[in-house]
Amino acid sequence: MNLEGEASTVGWARWGAGTNAKTLPDTASTLLAQVLDLAPPPPVVPLAEVAVADCALDGAVLGALRRALGPDNVLTTRVARARHGSGMSTPDLLRHRQGRVPAAPQAVLRPGDHAEVLSILDICSRFGVAVVPFGGGTSVVGGLTPSATRHVAVDLGRLNGLVAVDPLSRTATLQAGLRAPRAAELLAEHGFTMGHVPQSYEYATIGGFAATRSSGQASAGYGRFDDMVTALTIATPRGTIRTGRAPASAAGPDLRHLFLGSEGTLGVITDVTVRIRPLPARSHYEGWRFASFADGLHAVRSLAQDGPRPTVLRLSDEAETMIGATGSGRSDGGCQLIAGYEGADVRPTVEAAAAVLAAHGGVPLGEESGRQWARHRFDAPYLRDALLDAGAFAETVETAAYWSALPEVHDRVRQAILGALPDAALVLAHVSHVYETGASLYFTVICSPGSDPIERWRRAKAAASDAIAAAGATISHHHGVGTDHRAWYAAEIGDVAVDLLRAVKQQLDPAGILNPGILVP
Ligand SMILES: Cc1cc2nc3c(=O)[nH]c(=O)nc-3n(C[C@H](O)[C@H](O)[C@H](O)COP(=O)(O)OP(=O)(O)OC[C@H]3O[C@@H](n4cnc5c(N)ncnc54)[C@H](O)[C@@H]3O)c2cc1C
Repeated sequence: MNLEGEASTVGWARWGAGTNAKTLPDTASTLLAQVLDLAPPPPVVPLAEVAVADCALDGAVLGALRRALGPDNVLTTRVARARHGSGMSTPDLLRHRQGRVPAAPQAVLRPGDHAEVLSILDICSRFGVAVVPFGGGTSVVGGLTPSATRHVAVDLGRLNGLVAVDPLSRTATLQAGLRAPRAAELLAEHGFTMGHVPQSYEYATIGGFAATRSSGQASAGYGRFDDMVTALTIATPRGTIRTGRAPASAAGPDLRHLFLGSEGTLGVITDVTVRIRPLPARSHYEGWRFASFADGLHAVRSLAQDGPRPTVLRLSDEAETMIGATGSGRSDGGCQLIAGYEGADVRPTVEAAAAVLAAHGGVPLGEESGRQWARHRFDAPYLRDALLDAGAFAETVETAAYWSALPEVHDRVRQAILGALPDAALVLAHVSHVYETGASLYFTVICSPGSDPIERWRRAKAAASDAIAAAGATISHHHGVGTDHRAWYAAEIGDVAVDLLRAVKQQLDPAGILNPGILVP
């Protein structure tokens, strides 16, 4: 994806194709046709036919950039610019399918090292050109569509090396543009893993994970990405910052946390040092069933607070369990839980956790249901393609809350979405990231598109976001803020914190070139 001259719509108007593509099971298609009012969607406009205005940067800017990076690394073709114009939310995919890229960059820059990133920031600060760091392009919150009309995308794809491994300290330094699968391969050659496996794994990058505080499917065991980061190198318009000198420090506030989640507004992350762990010798996945979501939540909370903690722990609500069972022949009702274990010897943990789950009313479903989840763990974005191809609309909403508030958040967000899509919508939810004090909630919404699906979803998402705020939950557990969540983020942190963020940005980025309109209210 994102390659110059690559005119396929994969990674742009759809997540994937070829052998990985998924078709909807017949039973699911029948169910959708019964519940939703679907019509065949308009044909997808080929990428090569998408209208993108000519590059409007003047010769002085382009000349300076070409001298700094080499002419081959300053791309101004329509296809390259269209591919770097937004992320991969469903509204992004729908705009792409319609042949629209409202915020295409003027040029795509491909720096080869940290010094070249500094040069870009210097040139763009002098000429007043906005800069959008671009990792895997998987943002689902408008994190790649700045408010600026004249901007360049800085594609970090050439910063794709493993810089160093310290097996004794169990750390590795990875360049920011490394995609997750390649990072995993490079670490595996040394016998290690990060254990970071988000659903966007195939495309997303190390720098993107740090910039958005990503969280992966195995977060119960390995932690969130921000838990893994021990050090960062950041290029800012004012120069280089390196944070994270020791495994722990009392030397003032921890500046790593200023840049983790900064979404490209304070600087460009060029390398990330992460904690690594030995590749697990064994893995084991299994399924459990609980009579209700409430019962399942008690069990999950017990494991999260008192242990033993699986590596993967996810609990689907009744609706998600029912839809997941469609086509499998299972119709046990209740809620499905998946527990996954990775490590040197997982058996004692599996048995101890099984005792806890059974004590909370869980009924074992066996290894096959766990293995089935593992086999299909990356399917959802391909199924979204299939749903869009079938004329349906599918998108997600996520949040996190303390255990005491979680049932109410689940209920209020569901009701808000159903209220905003009154004709018919499926709202499915699961818990997939757990903490001692609370957990995330991840909602999948499938509905008919209506005459203007993007506007319809904007209203439904706003209703969901208002419900999240009213219930005291956070506007994002792992997708980030981007442009879509900015207003709710400002309300969540308050006026004083908003001023603080603006002041920090003003210091690091005096010309205001870095991701204007993203994150910082
Ligand atoms: C189908 C799908 C499934 C997803 N599943 C998950 C999931 O399971 N868990 C999860 O956490 N997220 C998930 N996401 C969201 C997304 O993948 C994450 O936000 C990811 O961390 C972004 O990585 P990226 O490399 O694609 O960044 P991009 O999308 O390219 O960029 C994201 C933001 O970070 C900034 N940025 C990128 N690289 C840098 C850098 N080096 N320095 C400074 N700023 C930078 C960009 O300017 C932008 O604002 C999913 C998205 C999709 C489309």
